[in-house]
Amino acid sequence: MTTEVIYARVPAELKGAVEEHAAGRSLTLAGAVSELLVRGVEAVHGAPSVATTEARVTELARELAEARLAHQEETFRRQNAEQQHQLLQRAAQTWTTRANQPVGQCPSCTKVISGYDLFVSGQCPQCQHAVTSMLAPGEKSGLDQKELLVLLGAVGILLGVMAISRSK
Ligand SMILES: [Zn+2]
Repeated sequence: MTTEVIYARVPAELKGAVEEHAAGRSLTLAGAVSELLVRGVEAVHGAPSVATTEARVTELARELAEARLAHQEETFRRQNAEQQHQLLQRAAQTWTTRANQPVGQCPSCTKVISGYDLFVSGQCPQCQHAVTSMLAPGEKSGLDQKELLVLLGAVGILLGVMAISRSK
């Protein structure tokens, strides 16, 4: 490494500080000055400019705002899905309860027919007689009309909730 000489006048306090620095590291005064100058030049040139730092801070702030927004949207979406799920579960429970209620008797064997037998399986659980004919208009089926209406109401609620869930 070739070396050159710099003559520079410095304040007495600075010279004192450099001498202290040299003594602390067993350096000559010239060695300490040289080392501190190298470090000073590196610090000035290596440090990012204020403009670069400000731009980076702005970018990070924008990223943070975006992340917060995405998190809020995700939370909202999840709460909404949970609510839908609860509604659906409640409607399904209501339907199940209503579907187990007796609505009439099997025209063939007089076994009690539930809403489930009538609307889902379509047959008598005992004699397998098709019970959907009980729904034919004008049929003297002995169906409990009130129970049937309540059951259809439960089906309506269930279908409604399902339609809302699907449209999301
Ligand atoms: Zn039957």
